[in-house]
Amino acid sequence: MHCCDAMDRHANVTCEDHEDPFDCPDALVQFSARFQEYGLIIHDGGRSSSIIDFCPWCGRRLPESQRDRWFDELERRGIDPWEDELPPEFEDDRWLKSDSAEPH
Ligand SMILES: [Zn+2]
Ligand SMILES: [Zn+2]
Repeated sequence: MHCCDAMDRHANVTCEDHEDPFDCPDALVQFSARFQEYGLIIHDGGRSSSIIDFCPWCGRRLPESQRDRWFDELERRGIDPWEDELPPEFEDDRWLKSDSAEPH
């Protein structure tokens, strides 16, 4: 599903010791399915990550961020992402494939 095996491994890293990748020193990349964004995890004790446009391993351009569309799509449905409960398909990348997501 990702650009290369290395990204596949890193984006799907599961650690027995750390449920949260931000707590795991071995976790380098965080993939946000809902936004289609890849971030380099900055281990400063917080939850910072730096969005990357290119894969650090194979150099390929990563998919464009869908963050703006995610918010647009929710707004179109009259859902406030900060106040309202998110429809389950907006928790991950399913909203991108749902039939109701018409192109603008
Ligand atoms: Zn760990
Ligand atoms: Zn790659």
